[in-house]
Amino acid sequence: MTRILVISDIHANLTALEAVLADAGEVDETWCLGDLVGYGPDPNECIHRIRSLPKLTCLIGNHDTAAIGNLALVSFNHDARRSLVWHKETVTKKNLTFLTGLPSDVVVCGEVSLAHGSPRDPIWEYVMNALTARINLGFFSTPWCFIGHSHMQVVFQQCARRDSVDIVVLPPGEGYELTERAILNPGSVGQPRDRNPRAAYALFYPEKNIWEPRRVEYDIQAVKTRILEAGLPPRHAERLAGGW
Ligand code: ZN
Repeated sequence: MTRILVISDIHANLTALEAVLADAGEVDETWCLGDLVGYGPDPNECIHRIRSLPKLTCLIGNHDTAAIGNLALVSFNHDARRSLVWHKETVTKKNLTFLTGLPSDVVVCGEVSLAHGSPRDPIWEYVMNALTARINLGFFSTPWCFIGHSHMQVVFQQCARRDSVDIVVLPPGEGYELTERAILNPGSVGQPRDRNPRAAYALFYPEKNIWEPRRVEYDIQAVKTRILEAGLPPRHAERLAGGW
């Protein structure tokens, strides 16, 4: 059975990324939904590692877009902006070229549409509630859409019979068969914001339409130390242990 690794919002956190890759084991494909850089201390190492992953499909995120200079830094809050200035100076030319080549539109892989933010607005829109999810169901034609950006591991599940969308947080570590249309977020590898500090990702088994959300512990303290040593905003170190 084909195993696809679905990751998003790595945010230059190599320790979390390595923990996810070790936990996932061997996979046939990797779908990365963007934001490889921003916030964390290891942008070059993360880009290098992601580029080495098998059969990679990788989208650009809003932080990646800012790092290559295609998005005004004023659109980010103070701390995110400070970290982006650091990233712009730190990311190598070769890696900036890689980021520049990443697609900013929805990419369709078989039965799944992939977007960083949302299918309606792939770079910027946050899908955080049922209404936004419901509107976005009209902006892709495959059964499923995988998104990142909000850093929440969550499923927006359509119920056609009730003409509604349910927000479902599936307990991680188990596979769930997808039936009705849905928008699914694997959560964030490098900066989870759902009050669970463990790195988040998902596995997808396309032949059986199984979605398996996962969480994995990593050495947060080591990343905190590197963030502070790099002179990045202390807030970005603090938030990791609380998952916010
Ligand atoms: Zn992000």
